[in-house]
Amino acid sequence: MIAQPKASHFVNGDWMEDTAGEALEVLYPATQEVIARLHCATPGVIEAAIAGAVAAQADWAARKPVERARVLRRAADLIRARGEDLARLETLDTGKPLQETRVADWPSGADSLEYFAGLAPTLTGETIPLGGDFAYTLREPLGVCAGIGAWNYPSQIACWKAAPALSTGNAMVFKPSEMTPLGALQLAAILIEAGAPAGLFNVVQGRGPVGAALATDPRIAKVSLTGSVPTGARVYQAAAAGMKHVTMELGGKSPLIVFADADLDSAVGAAMLGNFYSSGQICSNGTRVFVEKPVKEAFLAKLAERTGRIIAGDPLDEATQFGPLISAAQHEKVMGYIARAKAEGARLVCGGAAGNAGPLFVQPTVFADVTDAMTLAREEVFGPVMAVLEFETESEVIARANGTDFGLAAGVFTGDLARGHRVVAQLQAGTTWINAYNLTPVEMPFGAVKASGLGRENSRAAVEHYTQLKAVYVGMGPVDSPY
Ligand code: NDP
Repeated sequence: MIAQPKASHFVNGDWMEDTAGEALEVLYPATQEVIARLHCATPGVIEAAIAGAVAAQADWAARKPVERARVLRRAADLIRARGEDLARLETLDTGKPLQETRVADWPSGADSLEYFAGLAPTLTGETIPLGGDFAYTLREPLGVCAGIGAWNYPSQIACWKAAPALSTGNAMVFKPSEMTPLGALQLAAILIEAGAPAGLFNVVQGRGPVGAALATDPRIAKVSLTGSVPTGARVYQAAAAGMKHVTMELGGKSPLIVFADADLDSAVGAAMLGNFYSSGQICSNGTRVFVEKPVKEAFLAKLAERTGRIIAGDPLDEATQFGPLISAAQHEKVMGYIARAKAEGARLVCGGAAGNAGPLFVQPTVFADVTDAMTLAREEVFGPVMAVLEFETESEVIARANGTDFGLAAGVFTGDLARGHRVVAQLQAGTTWINAYNLTPVEMPFGAVKASGLGRENSRAAVEHYTQLKAVYVGMGPVDSPY
């Protein structure tokens, strides 16, 4: 299988290659076949991308919002028209089943482009009466933004960052994870086809140092990172030195709380979605499933039965529901967490071994009798490993749910809606669900509190993070001066 792009980078409106950059092999995770050979960006490529973005940004920002909107809207239409090809490419890049990439990845990206296209022309400032004099505000773009992506939702992440940035008049240089470099290149080409000016959205490939070069360049006004907490801390620090804006979408260990009065089948389904979709490689997963004592065994029985029916296999097979992990390193890490959970005394309910559909598969795994002190309840695994914990009272579970430095997401299942709202109000998380889990429509803000990050993606809230306010005071009379 080959998914070789025309070149490694997309800079200044065109494909760009520089074979002097470190070689980068792109593997299809299901078979570990090499599907593309790229090169990391050299300093020359990074310079061309930033300079191109700087050159494109001012003119783009000066265009009417409806003109900018039209470009993004066309890009959304092109993505939808090519949905099947893009889904296949995403499956090759990530190893996620076609069943997922057809409905989740690019479709969510297209929604984002469409949403921010619609929003851009509605953004206005305000006027502030001052008794004769007055002031008004202008919402201005930040300039050139850097986007740095993780490997789990590479194309969605590229769109979620590009859409609010571009719609509000910014330009962007985007660095995908070196493990999943292919989707963002397609977005760059599609934006040009949709009428974006050359240089507006550039993609440069590489590892951490390429991201670091972007985060420290004085011409970059903002860094939006999706990645792990340790990387987030490093990038935030680098950005702080230049007083740059940041959005940080980082890791989590989110609680999903199931009360005894919940619709148990829905709660089981949500826990499975929130632990096994994308083979568990989702930042907002509800990986600590707290189940109220009276229904715990019934919950586990349903969960084990349904988990046993998950179809793992070739991600390109339409029947497959569950794919491999992204890399050998991730596989080793996840298997290490499983071994540790066993060693620390968690009860294995199902799974718990490497999968047999290919080298990078891990069985969907459920551990019960997990305690708050166990490693499995404290560290992000980023794989298909669910921890089920038992609780007895509402106040107890709220305290335990909040007993982590992470604060990305949380969910509550209950038949008592008053309790649902009461509990969610006390959970320390940026994104929460009542009787649902992991749904992230573009209309709703997505983001974190505590160590899981800051800033918000999606919704009107994202506009705050890609624009800055200019205040304009207008004097209407002579200046009253004591001098
Ligand atoms: P990493 O933190 O390893 O990497 C994220 C990105 O940052 C990669 O593109 C990486 O490059 C780059 N990078 C690494 N070091 C630096 C540096 N010093 N300066 C600038 N950029 C750098 O995360 P993963 O790719 O392993 O993704 C998994 C993590 O992402 C998990 O913790 C997960 O929770 C989180 N995540 C969060 C989401 C959210 O929205 N909150 C969504 C999805 C994932 P390289 O290509 O070398 O890795």
